[in-house]
Order: sequence, then structure tokens, then C-alpha cells
Amino acid sequence: MSRFSRSPPASGTPVGVGAPEKVSAKFCQVFENLALGGVWVTDAAGQVTYLSNLIQKILGDVQLGPGMHLCSLFERSDHEGDAVGSLRLALTRRTRFDRLPLPITIDGETRWCSLSGEAQFDATGEFEGFFGFCSDITDDRRAAEETAQLAMHDPLTGLLNRRRMTSMLERTLASFRQQNRPCATMLIDLDRFKQVNDTLGHGIGDALLKQVAERLVTIVGDREKVCRLGGDEFQVLLPGQEDRGVLGDLANRIIAMLSQPYTVEGSRCIIGASVGIAVSPFDGAERSELVRNADLALYSAKHGGRGRFCFFSRELLEAAEERRLLEQDLHDAIERGELELFYQPVVGAQSNKVSGAEALVRWNHPTRGRISPSTFIPIAEESSLICRIGEWILRKGCEDAAKWKTPLRLAVNVSPVQFVDAGFPTIVAQALAATGLSPERLELEITEGVFLADDASTDETFSALKGLGVRLALDDFGTGYSSLAYLKSAPFDKIKIDQSFVRGATVDGSRNRAIIAAIIGLATALGMETTAEGVETFDQLAMVREQGVSHIQGYIYSPAIPDGEFQTQAYHADWGIEPTGYAKQRHERMTMYRKIGAIHDDFYYTVMLRNLSASGALIEGLLDVPIGTQFVLDFGEGQLEVATVRRSRGSQLGIAFENHLVSDGNGGLCTRCRVTPYLLAAAGLPDFSSSTGPRAVVGQKGAKVSIPSFASAIELRAQSKSREATA
Ligand code: C2E
Ligand code: CA
Ligand code: CA
Repeated sequence: MSRFSRSPPASGTPVGVGAPEKVSAKFCQVFENLALGGVWVTDAAGQVTYLSNLIQKILGDVQLGPGMHLCSLFERSDHEGDAVGSLRLALTRRTRFDRLPLPITIDGETRWCSLSGEAQFDATGEFEGFFGFCSDITDDRRAAEETAQLAMHDPLTGLLNRRRMTSMLERTLASFRQQNRPCATMLIDLDRFKQVNDTLGHGIGDALLKQVAERLVTIVGDREKVCRLGGDEFQVLLPGQEDRGVLGDLANRIIAMLSQPYTVEGSRCIIGASVGIAVSPFDGAERSELVRNADLALYSAKHGGRGRFCFFSRELLEAAEERRLLEQDLHDAIERGELELFYQPVVGAQSNKVSGAEALVRWNHPTRGRISPSTFIPIAEESSLICRIGEWILRKGCEDAAKWKTPLRLAVNVSPVQFVDAGFPTIVAQALAATGLSPERLELEITEGVFLADDASTDETFSALKGLGVRLALDDFGTGYSSLAYLKSAPFDKIKIDQSFVRGATVDGSRNRAIIAAIIGLATALGMETTAEGVETFDQLAMVREQGVSHIQGYIYSPAIPDGEFQTQAYHADWGIEPTGYAKQRHERMTMYRKIGAIHDDFYYTVMLRNLSASGALIEGLLDVPIGTQFVLDFGEGQLEVATVRRSRGSQLGIAFENHLVSDGNGGLCTRCRVTPYLLAAAGLPDFSSSTGPRAVVGQKGAKVSIPSFASAIELRAQSKSREATA
């Protein structure tokens, strides 16, 4: 230790007062005794001349051999990075180093040392070597790593967390932007997860989420690309991917895999998944825009019936804007007296006698005309305006029904959002009291959505309503989760079989008929009435009567009619309606009538798309185009596809695509890949989105290149019209 006692601090700054010789020897001892760390000393060549016991222990009982270099003690590490390099550099440069973290691997386990050292010089200023300390920082290091892991990962599933996904997406998009590469992202939302969580408990819910995470990782193939955003929402990052054929397939596989049954702690559960997809740069170059658009696509997938995927498109953005505007207007709709109740008669299946009516709300918008409740009720539900609107409907319905000469039953739709509101039974009681309608005439129609809410309060609401003496009907049965278990647990007086179910039942080979028979059988056994909804044709009428349904509601008897008209009819007790309508259900034909662009040579034509399949289309609007002519079709939003004319008659062209279109997840088709706006601009092409009629595609310098090869039928028609007008 003589070396130590002789050497003044290299920096020359005094570190204390008194006699340093005495302090340093003692200090060394105390420092080791307190296990704060160990002391090491090297000679001018970097070879270790002293190593305290503690360091020997930290380093896994190393034996000090002659001529052993300090660096060699730390050269046993599996850890990435070159920390020993930094140590070597400091030793050769004779620079002081402070708490240099050094990993060392002993028996497969990595431990961390923190090394500090300072060069020592003798009285003449000659370099003598290094003196320093070493401590074990493995525990601190592990704790820090765990914290970092927690900061990046979702503790439940081990997937990336939202924060990490956000920064990763941001970085990927920034670097891909420069390289002009695409990047896709998917948002995944589980269907019916809340129900599992509520009925089977949060423990099972958590275990289920872990299994979902593992399935997702298996399909995506890279754990570091999958994130749990929170709750039952997940996100997947797919750098470099833009092919919507591949993306659609992947989304379908995700939906199929996540919809397979799960076994969790002995319970079997089935959930579903919906997926929204957006691809940069087409659907947004910035992260926030891309994610918002994927979210809009997810919203559309969920509202389109769940268990499906949806690509983002401009239409979704417009629809979202439309919803926003409608929501604004809806705020004042009640005060402005724009809401109106219509009543649709409910008829006894065998007697054709009207037994009651369902109140169906109508919105007479000052500029947009009548808006369907299927459009504005969901908007009201999302913005919680539904409670105010629902209260108005209940009050007005009871008021109207109280005035009917015949005491017919009144059915009122109750949104799940209204139903879970703790004050709902009171609102019902007040409506009855204020209007004098007797409770047994009021029937509240509730959908299965209410069972997705918390159990205890649902039960309370049910018994409070039963206490009031009102009737309860389960609406839209057959569309939601359709669990017969609800029927046993909730005190329903009636089941309404959904119209999609009734409609499907008369199609050959449909199992709906058998299911309807089972529902009616069960309901009858439980003493409940049944209403078949949406009966339009005589074959449907015969079918539901044959199955023993007790009531029917549908256009075959009557649509919903204004209160005035209803009151007049309801004047007569014994009001009966003769069914009228078609004998059989007619198949609807989908005809398409959409403008698209067709580019040939340097000309851009507008044509009508009349039908579309994955391999080709029928377009209309160009005269006498030779077979074999090639066009580039512009479906909008950068969707360009090369097509060849296969048939040509007058203004109708049958064309075949060079690349097949792929499913857009919503029953439509889209091109696999898109042309970015940058590329269009770089090629000197205009933005085609606002085009009407044929026009020249001109280069950036504005030079027109040629004359159009084909006459546009649409143009010609317009020209002859204007000629007629001037003649
Ligand atoms: P819903 O409760 O299933 O109501 C039945 C819907 O089917 C009504 O559409 C009715 O006009 C229609 N309908 C009845 N018979 C036939 C038929 O034979 N063929 C066809 N194609 N349709 C038929 P509407 O009035 O457009 O209402 C749509 C949905 O909006 C309702 O479905 C209900 O979910 C909601 N809604 C309507 N009024 C209210 C309301 O006052 N409150 C709440 N919360 N929701 C309402
Ligand atoms: Ca209803
Ligand atoms: Ca219904």
C-alpha cells in the first residue's frame, strides 16, 4: 500500500485536511469492511499489483497471476458492446474514469461491476500506474433493466406497450419517408371480450388476453411488432407492407385464429376480433394521421357487423365528418321540435288483429330531410345524447298512447346506454305518472347489448322495472350474441325475432327455420310471447305462422305511420289489418353506377363502372374502342390498374385487369397496391381525384401531347343536348 500513501491526487486538488497517509490506509480497510467495494492497483503497464478480497469475490474468485492485465479480468462477458475497450483506452491515455460499468459473465450469469480509477504519479511526475475502486452493481443494474422493460412492455402480456409502439411507429415512418417505402399498421379490437370479463371474472379475462397475445405473435411472426394498446385493443406494425391482398389475408387469419375457442382455467370461451388497416403514405404520412385512419377503419369494421376487417378509405373520413355534423345538429333537435314518433302496428299472428304498436323515432332535419334512426341513434348513443332523446321518446310515446281510444300496447325502444343509467327506472315511473298510462300497456324493448354491462346493476334495473309493472321484450334476437341463457335469467315477456333472421329463413338450405322453431319452442315453454319482425312476403308469413309465432310486425301488415293516422285507425276496437304484399321474396340486384377514370395515351376519360369482379369490369362511356386496347383505370385514391378491352359493343366495354383486385373486407374490391401522390406528382401527372370528362394529361410544362383517340359517349350526349337547345 506504500504506493498509495505516497501519491498525491493526480488532479492536484486537496480532498481534505490533515495527514493523508493515515487516512488512506484506514480508509481502504473501512471501505472494504463496509462492502462498499474493493480496491485495485496496477503498475505502469496496467498489470494488477493489488486486488482486495472483495473484488476477487465479485469477479468469481479470480486468482491473481503474475503479469495479469486489469482488462483481462473483465474479458469474460457475453454482453454486447465494448466496455473493456473504454477501460483499455482510459488506461493507455492515463485518464481518470468514473463508475465505468463492466459486465462479466460467470457460469452463464452476467454480473456488473462499476470501476473507477485514477492515474498515479510519483514525486518526480513519473507515471506509476492506476489506483481505483470496484463495486458490484448487479442488483441496481437488474432493477434498472426491469424498469426499462416495464416502460416498454405491457406487464400482462409482455407485448410492446402503447408508448413503445408510438415511438417505434414514429421512427419507422420518418426513415421510410426518406426511402419512399410503405408501412402498414393494423388495429385489432376483440369482440365480446367485455362479456367474458364480466361473466367469468377479471382473472380469466387476464389469462384470456395472454392467450390472445400469444396467438397474435404466432400469426405475425415477430413479437417486437405486436403491441397491446390497453384493454382489449392491440396494434400490429408491418413495415414495408402495402399489398392489400397480403394485408387482407393476414387480417382474415388474425380474425380466424382469435375467434377459435379458448380454454382458460377450465372455462371455455369464444370471442371474436375486428381489424382496421391503414397504410402509409397513402392513408397518412404522419403517425397520428395513420393511426387515426386505422381507427376509423376499425370503427367501420365493428359497425359493419364485427368479425371483419376494413381498409381505410377517404369515404370513411367523410362519413366521420358527416357523423360529427349530425351530432352537432342533433343537440338541438328536441328543442327545435324536429323529432317525431311513428307507430308500427304489431298484429296477432293468427287473428290479424292489432294488439299494439312499436314507437319508431323519425328525425325531420331542416336541410337534409328525414334521417333514419339507424343513422342517428348510434350517433346519439356514442355522444350520450341518447339519454335525453330516449327520455323524450318515452314521455311522448306514453302521452300519445294515453290518447288512443283503444288501450293498445305501446312498445318503446331502450338503448343499452339508457338502460345502464341508474336513474332509468325513475324516468320510466315519471313518464307513466305524468301521462297516466297504465304500466301493463308499456313494453320496453331491450337488446342483448344490455348484458354486456355490469351484472349486478343490470339485475337491479330489471327488478326495479318489473316492480313498476311494465313489460319487457328482448329485441333483435338472432343478431347479437343470441345466448338462450339470457332468457332464463332475465324476466322477459316477449322475444322479438330479428328481421334478418326471418328473411334468411325462406332461402333454400337455411338453418334459420330450425333455429326460429327452437326459439319459439323455448319462449312458449317459458311463457313468453314471440314477435317475428320484418315480415314482408306471404312465404315469410306462412313460415312464421307455421312455426307458431304469436305476433307479427312487418310491411306485410303496415309500415310505421304518423301518430295522427294511427289514432284514427286505433279508434275502432277490434282493428284488424289484411296482409298485402308479394308472394315471395325477390332477390335484390346490385347494379353499380360509379364514375371512374380511364387513361389512354395522354388522355383522361371519365367512364361509368357498371359491374366489377376481381378479374375484370364492365365500363360504359367510350365509343368504338378496339378490342385489345389498354387503359389504365383510375378507381380513385391512387388505385390505378392496367386493363385490356376484351369485348366492345357500342359504348360498353368488357375489360380484364392485369392484376386481380382483392377484397376490401366489406364486400367490395380494391387494388392490391396504390400509387403515391408523390409518384403521380413526380411523373408530372395531375391529381385525378377531381376529374370530370375527358381531358388531356399534360406534363408539368403544360405542353399538350396529343388528341384523344376515343369519343366519349357522355361528352357526345352533352354536346347533342346543347345543340338541341340552341336549335
Ligand atoms: P328495430 O327496433 O328493430 O325496429 C324495427 C325496424 O324495422 C324499423 O326501422 C322498422 O321500420 C323496420 N321494419 C319494420 N317492418 C319491416 C319490414 O317488413 N321490412 C323492413 N325492411 N323493415 C321493417 P326504423 O324505424 O328505421 O328503425 C331502425 C332501428 O332504429 C330500430 O330497429 C331501432 O334499433 C332504432 N330505433 C328506432 N326508433 C328508436 C327509438 O325510439 N329509440 C331507440 N333507442 N332506437 C330506435
Ligand atoms: Ca325494436
Ligand atoms: Ca328489432
